[in-house]
Amino acid sequence: MTKASSVEIHKLKKELEVLEQKKGKGTELVSLYIPHKKKIYDVTSQMKDEYSQASNIKSARTRKNVQSALEIIMQRLRTVKDVPENGIVMFVGTIPRGVKDKMEVYMINPPEEVTTYVYHCDSQFYLDTIKDMLSEKGTYGLLVVDRSEATIGFLKGKRIEIAKHINSNVPRKHGRGGQSQRRFERLIEIAAHEYFKKVGEKASNIFMNTPDLRGVLLGGPGPTKEFFNNEGYLHHEVQKKILDVIDTSYTDEFGITELVDNAEELFKDLDVTKEKGLVNRFLKEVVKDKGLAAYGESEIRQCLAKGAVDTLLVSEDVESFRVVMTCSSCDYRTDKTVKNVKEYENKISTEKCPKCGEMSLGIDEFKSTLDELTNMVDSIGAKIEVISNETEEGQQLNAFGGLAAILRFRS
Ligand code: ZN
Repeated sequence: MTKASSVEIHKLKKELEVLEQKKGKGTELVSLYIPHKKKIYDVTSQMKDEYSQASNIKSARTRKNVQSALEIIMQRLRTVKDVPENGIVMFVGTIPRGVKDKMEVYMINPPEEVTTYVYHCDSQFYLDTIKDMLSEKGTYGLLVVDRSEATIGFLKGKRIEIAKHINSNVPRKHGRGGQSQRRFERLIEIAAHEYFKKVGEKASNIFMNTPDLRGVLLGGPGPTKEFFNNEGYLHHEVQKKILDVIDTSYTDEFGITELVDNAEELFKDLDVTKEKGLVNRFLKEVVKDKGLAAYGESEIRQCLAKGAVDTLLVSEDVESFRVVMTCSSCDYRTDKTVKNVKEYENKISTEKCPKCGEMSLGIDEFKSTLDELTNMVDSIGAKIEVISNETEEGQQLNAFGGLAAILRFRS
């Protein structure tokens, strides 16, 4: 399997947003997923079958649209010799555009291996398989606990979610001495036991009802967390999933964040840690005198031109798109830079063509400004990473205009 880069994943997410809102007038949008091991001529012969079966479709318009979609697919398949490692994904169909319709064709590079062959004809494109590939993989359970409170949460992809906070009301031990002291201590221990039991039950319940739970991290200050862990307050199914017991200073929301930060070693492979690491490396260079950092578009462009960039960091917030807008009723064609393709397409669908006056405007192609940067980065053998805005580090990057670089040398 060829692993997709953060830039590719990001672009694909944007593309899916646009594909998601495409709707055909009838069941005439074709989606095709071809796995690597599938023979192209098998697919072509199925397309031929589908083509002849489509002649039974009652609606003349739907019949014509399905058949032209199949023709386009067969044409495209003729140019394919071998199915690439990750497979082929195609979406083809006639999309209504005001008074006229337009045939749209999308070839997608799947970010993971397509394992099942899918031929799907519907009024919408079938995107589930590709969406699954993009969904944040794996959820981690988080629990911080001490004698006064406990917080339960999740790390989902890059996002931390708080699920539950529990206060203990267990009184503090204090020295009065004598008989009453021993009795008091015994009562405290009973209260503490009840509290730990409650935390264990709540956490177990929440974690066991979480699909795709990859593991659990347990944290807190002092030895309470180990005591909690060793006394088996958690359900054995959850207990088995504990990946690490980690020191944190807090047991509230901050404690949960601390837990994730302190488990960095464990999350080495996760994108979130990688992104944080890169932004922090950049920030360290920024504060240094003559550090290896650059930011802002003009400085970055200069550094790229000189080949001085090692890693380019692009916040997903700075991205814009170059879109080609056409009219399906006349030959009007123009291009424009927009921030959000989906919103822009919605907007122009209600506008009249400036040339012929029909409401037939639509977007034919769009290119992310990231493409240009990616090409520049590739040409000098540097790296590029898209930094999501969901983390604190992502927000910090936005303070630098969302475009920053770690340099190879000062230029
Ligand atoms: Zn027009």
